[in-house]
Amino acid sequence: MDSVANKEIKRIGVLTSGGDAPGMNAAIRAVVRACTYYGIQVYGIRRGYRGLLDGDMFEMNARSVSDIIYRGGTILQTARCHSFREHEGIVKGKKMTEIFQLDALVVIGGDGSFKGALELAREGVPVIGIPGTIDNDIGCSDYTIGFDTAMNTVRDAIDKIKDTASSHERCSFVEVMGRNAGYIALNCSIAGGAEVCLVPEKPYSLEVDVVRRIIACRNRGKHHYVVIVAEGVGGTLELAQQVKDITGIETTATILGHIQRGGSPTVKDRVMAGKMGVKAVLALKNGEINKIVAAQGEKCVTIDIEEALQMKKELDEDMLLANDILNV
Ligand code: ATP
Repeated sequence: MDSVANKEIKRIGVLTSGGDAPGMNAAIRAVVRACTYYGIQVYGIRRGYRGLLDGDMFEMNARSVSDIIYRGGTILQTARCHSFREHEGIVKGKKMTEIFQLDALVVIGGDGSFKGALELAREGVPVIGIPGTIDNDIGCSDYTIGFDTAMNTVRDAIDKIKDTASSHERCSFVEVMGRNAGYIALNCSIAGGAEVCLVPEKPYSLEVDVVRRIIACRNRGKHHYVVIVAEGVGGTLELAQQVKDITGIETTATILGHIQRGGSPTVKDRVMAGKMGVKAVLALKNGEINKIVAAQGEKCVTIDIEEALQMKKELDEDMLLANDILNV
């Protein structure tokens, strides 16, 4: 994949794509402010790739991003655009970048959004990606913008659910986001002191991993239990019913859903958004293209987009062990 721009980057477009995540606004702000600093013109593209295909874009300046750093969601809005999965869509997207004379695109989103960006890069549109998704499931990056805020929302919900569960001697099932990744579930299981945590990466046995653990807790004198289920495991309502049928313990199931996407971003998400946004623009200014900005510990680096999309991230074994030890 080309990694050096063949001309100076003078005007770029920025869009948010896929699921929204708290901190996307802070990332847009960082991109716009960094562009202003380096004298690069910047266009905000509304509704992700949908807006690119429609040419739905407007010039932004430092003032356009005033007062948004603390707001959840994305002022540019986001969308899932099915026609962008077709080659025709990509060609039309490239055409729009030519019509608006955009020298590069900054794409803030998840894995799917980066696949779209890679297709654009293959057609010759310089791109750079910033990981923005609450799931923290981007293989190349230790961190994705929105993850910390989402985890704090879940932790808060678990604390509240625990209060009522202990008053009523219940077993509470809490379904959290994560279609393919258990990062939110695992972190919030440790932070919320859950008894059981089910993640998509690890198959589980109802009898051994759920029922036996809950009965063991009851035998130790516990009166309430929390079971965290990542969305990708599925069947939370049925699971709660099965456990009730087997143990006789009253169960409830709460699907946290979109509450996890909203809210004012935490300090961590604002800071990461700031660092990643500036890194993306700095890379473009230096002629670096077709990269993903990735967090490696506290540092931000850039990784070739094709390589980045092939990278996989496993759940941390030490965390899984810690969770197992602390759960029982
Ligand atoms: P999240 O992790 O929050 O779901 P995401 O970026 O992975 O975010 P997707 O819905 O998978 O979200 O992708 C966002 C958009 O990216 C899609 O609606 C589509 O326009 C584009 N896209 C996804 N996959 C591809 C692909 N293989 N080729 C071209 N474009 C794609």
